[in-house]
Amino acid sequence: MKILKIQTLRGPNYWSIRRHKLIVMRLDLEELADRPSNEIPGFYEGLVQVLPSLVEHFCSPGCRGGFLSRVKEGTLMGHIIEHIALELQILAGSEVGFGRTRETPERGIYHVVVEYKDEQAGRYAVRAAVRLCQSIIDTGSYAQEELEQDLQDLKEMAADAALGPSTETIVKEAEARGIPWTPLSARALVQFGQGVYQKRIQATLSSQTGILGVELASDKESTKQILREAGVPVPRGTVINYLDELADAIADVGGYPIVIKPLDGNHGRGITINITTWEEAEEAYDAAKQVSKAVIVERYYQGRDHRILVVNGKVVAVAERIPAHVVGDGKSTIQELIDETNRDPNRGVGHDNVLTRIELDRTSWQLLEKQGYTLETVLPAEQICYLRATANLSTGGIAVDRTDEIHPENVWIAQRVAKIIGLDIAGIDVVTADITRPLKEMDGVIVEVNAAPGFRMHAAPSRGIARNVGGAVIDMLYPPGTPSRVPILAVTGTNGKTTTTRLLAHIYRQTGVVVGYTTTDGTYIGEFLVEKGDNTGPQSAQLILQDPTVEVAVLEAARGGILRSGLGFDASDVGVILNVAADHLGIADIDTVEKLAHVKSVVAEAIHPNGYAVLNADDPLVSAMTQRTKAQVAYFSMNPESQLIKEHTRSGGIAAVYENGYISILKGDWTIRIEQAVNVPLTMGGRAPFMIANALAASLAAFVQGVDVDVIRSAIKTFRASSNQTPGRMNLFNLGNYHALIDYAHNPHSYEALGGFVRSWPGERIGVVGGPGDRRDEDFVQLGKLAAQMFDRIIVKEDDDNRGRERGDGARLIIEGIKQTKPDFNYETILDETKAINTALDSATVNSLVVILPETVSRAVSLIEARNPIPDAVQQP
Ligand code: ATP
Ligand code: ATP
Ligand code: MG
Ligand code: MG
Repeated sequence: MKILKIQTLRGPNYWSIRRHKLIVMRLDLEELADRPSNEIPGFYEGLVQVLPSLVEHFCSPGCRGGFLSRVKEGTLMGHIIEHIALELQILAGSEVGFGRTRETPERGIYHVVVEYKDEQAGRYAVRAAVRLCQSIIDTGSYAQEELEQDLQDLKEMAADAALGPSTETIVKEAEARGIPWTPLSARALVQFGQGVYQKRIQATLSSQTGILGVELASDKESTKQILREAGVPVPRGTVINYLDELADAIADVGGYPIVIKPLDGNHGRGITINITTWEEAEEAYDAAKQVSKAVIVERYYQGRDHRILVVNGKVVAVAERIPAHVVGDGKSTIQELIDETNRDPNRGVGHDNVLTRIELDRTSWQLLEKQGYTLETVLPAEQICYLRATANLSTGGIAVDRTDEIHPENVWIAQRVAKIIGLDIAGIDVVTADITRPLKEMDGVIVEVNAAPGFRMHAAPSRGIARNVGGAVIDMLYPPGTPSRVPILAVTGTNGKTTTTRLLAHIYRQTGVVVGYTTTDGTYIGEFLVEKGDNTGPQSAQLILQDPTVEVAVLEAARGGILRSGLGFDASDVGVILNVAADHLGIADIDTVEKLAHVKSVVAEAIHPNGYAVLNADDPLVSAMTQRTKAQVAYFSMNPESQLIKEHTRSGGIAAVYENGYISILKGDWTIRIEQAVNVPLTMGGRAPFMIANALAASLAAFVQGVDVDVIRSAIKTFRASSNQTPGRMNLFNLGNYHALIDYAHNPHSYEALGGFVRSWPGERIGVVGGPGDRRDEDFVQLGKLAAQMFDRIIVKEDDDNRGRERGDGARLIIEGIKQTKPDFNYETILDETKAINTALDSATVNSLVVILPETVSRAVSLIEARNPIPDAVQQP
């Protein structure tokens, strides 16, 4: 077996619309292509011994043991690897279940498709599955240590990529509400929503959290000062910088017991509480000094430790925090009890699990000493031994929910405190003997206010009700009724995507919004080019959707990107499918137009149910997508008599048709005429039928999104296919006594479309033709045939980049096609593109049209520009 390629899909894709996270492995079974599992001695037994849990895979028999029975009866290795890759991830703790294995057009080569939770782990799992299988084939088994190492690696990869527990509670809630989210590459930022509606969080800081509030909260002394002045109970205390100030400070706060802590510490670091002697005080001072330059000396307040969480001005959860401790059983030593407690799988390291393992520090030894214990003491049954002085979860403490018990006056104080400090999300630490009674009564105090408080004590308390605190944050970021998504219009098809995308963006621009759009030429926001290049993949889509100024996204979705990584969005509002014709066949294992249609139908399927699929009624492969989409359907057609259109509008549907020279919308019984095609420059005076089709599609897409007809009209009248607006798309240049046309047509379907226009040219028609080297031989022949039908004279050229094809080979095939159609046709071969173009232009006759199908549009344009075309005649033949 040989792994040929591993791809990671992240959006709706060819294999599944709903499952976005898939690994696609292209696997050559080699000699195993003809050897099902039952013909490999010992394979079944070996597999069962290595991975007995595969018995849980139902597979096609639909029952427990179903998959293993298939292995026993005989199934191919691709299928087995799929199941193993899933099982390895399951054993490492990831919930995955979706898999597919299909043969590619190449014999013995399979696509093994496997779901993942973590990308890196997913890729690792498919490789490990191949390794494991190969080992069982070769040796009858797979070493236990190897398997354990694989699982360990998988777990670590998943843990490394996992969100923090607080972030995760917020993200989960966003997901439940259908709000899109995406991790940003920097600083553990997470973005919710799209375009102008985006919001961000970083742990529990939000994009609405003010920097002044955060800085104030992290300065404990200033926080207390401001709160004290507002009449909020805070500990009596003072700040010192030198040891010789300590004695006075202790006297200042009223003597022992006291607390010493760093001025700007957190997570309980460097804090000593309940200090009752000068020796302890000195030691505590040193500990605090290690964390911070300045040190707080405070009165110690007896009581229990509480955390009150305030989000958006409201108390949303209250937890009591109990310091790390163990409870005796009369048999075990304290050390044994600690080890036992730490074995709890819920306890992790630091903040990455629900609870944290108990680790002993300086204060622990002091505490043990005070209680008269050592680690070897056998603790009497029911006796509690505290191991840490402070109750931070990150030092092994536990949390008990008290949200329903807090006294209303304390609620009022907490809410007021969050406002005074200026935090939208605040964790307020309160020490009081009883949270159900007013602080005043209990001599309770607010010891500090935390910005970016942890959520795990509320979302997953050790005892009591779990509180949906993530929901409170989402409520704040997206109050009910607030949009989180910008309209997305996705455009696909074999030909006309870029033109239609640009026209649609142009229409939207007339409505005054900022449009972000991606095409094969580049990524644009508003009037400006962000990035040049073939930007029709998911990354460019993400760039647009992450841009904070974008109000509408129009995205060209090409075959390559869909196959390589899936769509860059989960669902669009409008999906336009222009046409499906033979192009790129044989590339990426797509060898029939039906499969190509399936690739394009991903766009039709990934539309919100209340959105629209805009489908070409004249293309059976496209109109058939009606069956696949859950969205509403609107059709466009060049034929107003189309049966499909008639039936559709009769039942109240919306359509766009070309009727009596007009681009019109049909809605039920009504015809809304948008504009005469002759007044739409893109259609070259109405002479380029395929451009009329593109205009119909764009107008219809805008119409179903509620764009005003007047806006659509003025937009299609002002959109010009000039070489700078749509380079390479029907760019016509007036060169005085002849014209030149640059077009990007590069497959039979677009040649035919172009032919519709060229044949109507009154003078001589000269073609400069060639095609990309990675197309099939028959495509080149076909191009030759079509070219012979539309031109009077042809110069055959080749691309500079032959994409693996031998020089001269493409030209030879085109000529073969020409000769098959017209044996004594007038052609010449000039492989060099520049030379070919110049020769054609030099030899152009009066009133002729030189049609150039270049590899590089910009070079062709500059060759023509050098001949000083007459400006502004661009769109008027
Ligand atoms: P975190 O960041 O986890 O909230 P921290 O390092 O910022 O902790 P504080 O919140 O100031 O530190 O103190 C930690 C704990 O120590 C408090 O929750 C409380 O239990 C206890 N504590 C602090 N100051 C006092 C005090 N003056 N009287 C009694 N207990 C105190
Ligand atoms: P690509 O796959 O290169 O990105 P595209 O789908 O974006 O192409 P455009 O760049 O808009 O398509 O147009 C390329 C060429 O295809 C045009 O210059 C024209 O020759 C032809 N074409 C455009 N629209 C259509 C159409 N609706 N039907 C057939 N051919 C078309
Ligand atoms: Mg605290
Ligand atoms: Mg394009």
